[in-house]
Amino acid sequence: MTIETDYLVIGAGAVSLAFVDTLLDEDPDCHITMVDMHAKPGGHWNDAYSFVALHQPSAFYGVNSMGFGNDVVDDHGPNKGLYPLASGTEVSAYFTKLMNRRFLPSGRVSYFPLSEYLGSSDGVGRIKSILSGEETEVKIRRKTVDGTFYKTSVPATHKRQFSVAEDTPIAIPGDLPDLWMRGDDLPGHYVILGAGKTAMDTGVWLLQAGVHPNNITWVRPRESWLINRLYTQPGPDFFEDVVQNQIAQLKAAAEAATGDEMFEILGRDGYMLRIDESVKPEMFHYATISEGEVELLRQITNVVRHGRVNAVEPGKMMFASAEETLPEDALFIDCTATAVPFAEDRQHGPQFRGDTIVLQPLHVPLVTLSASISAFLEANFDDDETKNAMGTPSPLTDTPNTYPLGMLTNFMNRGAWSQNPKIAAWLSKARLDPTGTTVAKMMAEGDTRLAVMGGFQEAIAVGIPGLQRLAVAAAEEHEDR
Ligand SMILES: Cc1cc2nc3c(=O)[nH]c(=O)nc-3n(C[C@H](O)[C@H](O)[C@H](O)COP(=O)(O)OP(=O)(O)OC[C@H]3O[C@@H](n4cnc5c(N)ncnc54)[C@H](O)[C@@H]3O)c2cc1C
Repeated sequence: MTIETDYLVIGAGAVSLAFVDTLLDEDPDCHITMVDMHAKPGGHWNDAYSFVALHQPSAFYGVNSMGFGNDVVDDHGPNKGLYPLASGTEVSAYFTKLMNRRFLPSGRVSYFPLSEYLGSSDGVGRIKSILSGEETEVKIRRKTVDGTFYKTSVPATHKRQFSVAEDTPIAIPGDLPDLWMRGDDLPGHYVILGAGKTAMDTGVWLLQAGVHPNNITWVRPRESWLINRLYTQPGPDFFEDVVQNQIAQLKAAAEAATGDEMFEILGRDGYMLRIDESVKPEMFHYATISEGEVELLRQITNVVRHGRVNAVEPGKMMFASAEETLPEDALFIDCTATAVPFAEDRQHGPQFRGDTIVLQPLHVPLVTLSASISAFLEANFDDDETKNAMGTPSPLTDTPNTYPLGMLTNFMNRGAWSQNPKIAAWLSKARLDPTGTTVAKMMAEGDTRLAVMGGFQEAIAVGIPGLQRLAVAAAEEHEDR
C-alpha cells in the first residue's frame, strides 16, 4: 500500500502527540501520519507500573488543546495541599481520548499503531505492521518528525544491566500489587534496586501498603537532589512561590562557585529536597517530589551505597567491590531503568534539519511544552535557521554541577520567546506553560500578587552573569563525561 502525507511522525508518545496537537491548529492545511509500535497512543505510559503517576501536576502535562486534571488540590496523602498528579491509567486514557475524539475525527491524522517505522529514502518512509508484516510506503510531502529522541526506558521493557541467578526472587514495580494473590508465600524482605523516581514511588508504595521500614533495603548508588513540588504548582495561589523559586535559583547562581554549591543553597532554603541530608547528592534528573513523600522515604534506613549492583542471587547481592547478605526470601525489585537518558553522552544537534525535525527539550524538563513549541515554530517561521534560533535544545544533564547548562538554555529560550510577540501571545494562552497562562489571568484580574515579578527582574540582572559562569564550567564537565 502507498499513502501520502505532509508530516510522518515517528512515535505516538506524549512528545509526538503534543507536537501533532499544536501543528493541527497552527497549520490547518497539513496532513499528518503517526506510526508507533505500541497498540495505543501514550508511548511508555502503556508499559508503566500500575501505581505510577506524573511527578508534576497534571494541569500542565499532555497537549495544549485538551485540559487534564482538575483545579482542586489533593486533601489527603503525601501530596496534600498540592494539585493532583494523574495516574498512569489516567494519562493513557487522556491520550486515547485525544486520538479518538480529536485527531482521527479531524480527518487530517492517519494513525498506524502496532507498526514499526523502518526508515526513509528519497522522501518515502516505510512502515511495517508488527502483526501482519505488511509494509506501507508513505510519500512524505514535507517532513519526517522524530518523536523518539528521549528513548524513555521503564522497568517493564528495559534490558537489565546486572545478572540474576536462577531462582532469585525478582520483580518489577508493576508486579507488586499482585502480591495479594500469593497467600502466605510472601517475601519477608524487600530490596529496592535504584535511586530514581521509580525507586522512590516503589518505596512510598511499600510503606503505604504496610511493609515495615526495617523490612526494606534500598540500594542507592547515588543520592539525588529533588525538586520540591510546592514550587511547581500552577495558578495564582501558588504564583508567588513559583516566582520566589525562580528568584532563589538566580540568586543562588550568582552566589555559588559551582553547581553543587548552588544546590546546597537551594536545599538549605527548601526549594530542593533530598532524602538523606548527610550524603552529598551526585545526581539531578528533575525528579519532583513532595515534602510528605520525602518524610515517608526517610523511614527507610537500610540504605546500601556500594554503587550499582552487578549481580543478585537468593539472599545476596554483589557490587564491584562489595557484597551484601540479605534474608533468603528477600524480593529484589528492579527500579534500575533509566527513564530519560540523562547520563547518556549523545550529541544532540539542532531540532530543524532540512526535511527532518528531531523533537528535543527546549525547556527542560517540560517535554510536552517543548514539543508543542516546536510545532508552533515549524508552522509560523520560514527557515530552519530562524526556527533553530528560537529553540536551542536544552542538554539532558546528569548532575547538580552540570545543571546550570540546562538552566541557562531554558532562560535563553524563554528570553527569545518573550521578545517575539507572536510566540509570547501564543504562550500566554498555552495551557502547557505553567506560568504564561497564570500571568495572563492575573493581569486581566489586576491581581496584586503579580508584584513579586519586580523581584524577578532584579534577580535576572544579578543572576544571569553568575549562571553564565557556572554554565561554562558545566559545559566542560558535561562534554567530558
Ligand atoms: C515513570 C515516568 C514518569 C514520568 N513523569 C513525567 C512527568 O510527570 N512530567 C514530565 O514532563 N515528564 C515525565 N516523564 C518523562 C517522560 O519521558 C515524558 O513525559 C514522556 O512521556 C516521554 O514521551 P516520549 O513521547 O518522548 O517517549 P515515549 O513515551 O517512549 O514514546 C515514544 C514512542 O515511540 C515509539 N517508537 C520508537 N521507535 C519507533 C519506531 N522505529 N517505529 C515506531 N514507533 C517507534 C515507541 O513505541 C513509543 O511509543 C516521566 C517518565 C517516566 C518513565
